[in-house]
Amino acid sequence: MFLIQGDINLRYDVVVVGGRVGGSASSLFASKNGLDVLMIEKRQEIGSPVQCGEATTYDTYNTLGINPSKKYVRSELKGSDVHAPNGKHVRIEGNKIHGFMEGYVVERKIFDKELAIESARAGTDIMVKTRVKDLILKDGHVGGVVAKHLGKTFDIKADIVIAADGIESNISRLAGLKTVNNVKDIGSCAQYEMVGVDIPSNYMQLYYGEQIAPGGYLWMFPKGNGIANVGLGVLNSKETAYHYLTKFISKMDATPVELNIGGVPVSGPMDQTYSSGLMVVGDAAGQADPINGAGIENTVTCAKIAGDVALESIENENTTSPYLKKYEDMWRLAIGKNIENSLKYRKIIDKLSDDDFNALAEFLEHKDLGSISKLSILKFLKNYPHLITLLIDIFI
Ligand SMILES: Cc1cc2nc3c(=O)[nH]c(=O)nc-3n(C[C@H](O)[C@H](O)[C@H](O)COP(=O)(O)OP(=O)(O)OC[C@H]3O[C@@H](n4cnc5c(N)ncnc54)[C@H](O)[C@@H]3O)c2cc1C
Repeated sequence: MFLIQGDINLRYDVVVVGGRVGGSASSLFASKNGLDVLMIEKRQEIGSPVQCGEATTYDTYNTLGINPSKKYVRSELKGSDVHAPNGKHVRIEGNKIHGFMEGYVVERKIFDKELAIESARAGTDIMVKTRVKDLILKDGHVGGVVAKHLGKTFDIKADIVIAADGIESNISRLAGLKTVNNVKDIGSCAQYEMVGVDIPSNYMQLYYGEQIAPGGYLWMFPKGNGIANVGLGVLNSKETAYHYLTKFISKMDATPVELNIGGVPVSGPMDQTYSSGLMVVGDAAGQADPINGAGIENTVTCAKIAGDVALESIENENTTSPYLKKYEDMWRLAIGKNIENSLKYRKIIDKLSDDDFNALAEFLEHKDLGSISKLSILKFLKNYPHLITLLIDIFI
């Protein structure tokens, strides 16, 4: 148990800033590696408020090494129904096409807290309602954090600091790194959890169109018993995400029980995700997938690598920037190619008009996506040559 009393003189192998999925997963892996870990969360409760559609992939749990629990799993996802602006739709089974997924819709308030509980069981100390205000820096080397809890400010020394402080991250900036927080790089999102939503229980519903979600898409993720997350993200739009969301739900006979507003980094990761004594994980590093804004799986993958590199660097008594570059090399090897592809596809999708989406949906409707003939794709492309990269990469 951890209590803050009297004079504080704290020292850990690793201090993790942020207690949601990036922080809890980094703490879990570092603790499992036998390191002495402290995780610090500024909010009084881990996992709340939710800023997420709550769709998670099977691989997330494989990487975490845990079985998804009935406590938080609300539905199982087998694929996606993709709706074009004219109402035509295509069913994409599983995750065979990049950017679409299968897995579970979860209750993230419970999932994130359970993950923190797993980390605590693995040995992580946790401070809640404690804000990291600054870094302890000596000649550019991060040697810990300055934290504040209920009016009391204190230093906590550490060999490594992991910044998992999300999209508003100022920890990496304090270490001199350039963060991904330019407005044009951040998808702005709004979501209602709603009751009375009539959609298939195992398929995500995704809607595209200039009038629906310019620069992004609208999602409906089923949570069982007529409950669903109905949200959308827009990019560089004149109107807010909330504006488009209220417009869409005005046509539905469903009642909201929760509203979430948040941002997702969709222009790829920051150029450098480490410095001397510091590694940056999750949304703070911009590791979410640029095509759909999904960040949980990538965050967990990177958290595992950060936990392993933390152990190696501490064992080798070398936490300098050149050594911690290994973290960046390893995560880019694991997910860098996917992120690059997503960026490429997103740039193409950004330029698609509603007519393009309609034509694509018409072409793909009623087809088995696994066995579309090359000849039919080439015929279609004669009229839509600007879709060539997208279709050839996906289907040929
Ligand atoms: C509307 C929306 C829908 C989304 N839907 C999905 C989805 O369905 N599936 C998916 O995979 N991804 C989704 N994402 C993305 C996903 O939520 C994120 O990628 C993921 O939560 C990132 O986790 P994180 O731990 O890196 O950051 P965060 O979840 O932002 O956590 C950062 C934590 O750090 C704490 N913190 C910040 N500063 C400090 C400080 N100075 N001191 C102490 N604590 C601090 C914060 O309080 C917070 O708890 C969505 C995002 C949004 C906005």
